[in-house]
Amino acid sequence: MLQTILAPNPSPMTLDGTRTYVVGRERPVVVDPGPADAAHLDAIAAALDGRPPVAILLTHAHSDHAAATRPLAARTGAPVWMAAGGLGPKTEIVTRWIEDGARVETDAGVLTAAATPGHAPEHVCFLWTEAPAEHERALLAGDMFMGGGDTTLVAPPEGDLTQYLASLDRLEALRPSIIHPAHGPPIADGMEAIRRYRAHRASRIDQVVRALRQGDAAPGELIDRIYGPELHPGLRGAAEGSLRAILAHLAATGRARAAGDRHHLTER
Ligand SMILES: [Zn+2]
Repeated sequence: MLQTILAPNPSPMTLDGTRTYVVGRERPVVVDPGPADAAHLDAIAAALDGRPPVAILLTHAHSDHAAATRPLAARTGAPVWMAAGGLGPKTEIVTRWIEDGARVETDAGVLTAAATPGHAPEHVCFLWTEAPAEHERALLAGDMFMGGGDTTLVAPPEGDLTQYLASLDRLEALRPSIIHPAHGPPIADGMEAIRRYRAHRASRIDQVVRALRQGDAAPGELIDRIYGPELHPGLRGAAEGSLRAILAHLAATGRARAAGDRHHLTER
């Protein structure tokens, strides 16, 4: 009742590739069609076994999740659902702009959208209920989590850490059982993963606060203070992105302030 189709797009950002999920058999849905790769589209079509999807669902618009949407919709005639609010170009392939709580019924249960902005403003997860026992309250989680890790990318302009932390709280209230991320293997204990991701982010925030205690600084100086000379040059961009998300979160919660590009703590 759940088929996982791994796309051939491995990278540091996508781990072993994007996982496309097919839920249900007679009236299936496809979650995150993935990259526009011919072999991957054929694998999705094989999983559908000739049955047109009730809907193609997108957790968010990033191309490693969404690029195959247009060819898959053309091939199957399925409607495309996603939430509005993304910074990318508005796409005419979307049939229905969904809101928090939108439900789609399959022959294997109901998927309900949970608005989870943070990685991207339009990000939603899908909670699977009325499902076969082993899938009850499974969460199709997009990029809220990365299988095998304890963090996910939250960086401006799309990423918002304050929203991301609120989305973790939101998901905790939904009491997911297993988590199926779009990258990496399933996470068996959903509630434990939520606590772990929250703790990881809190320790990153503390790290930045400690670095700011040494005096006001621009982001580049903060990265040097936090990581020292060991930081691989190829990781500096990602480090700066997540640092900027933390600085924005500290500003939004009144703990730090910026004068130009220099940041300082408002607390002691
Ligand atoms: Zn993404």
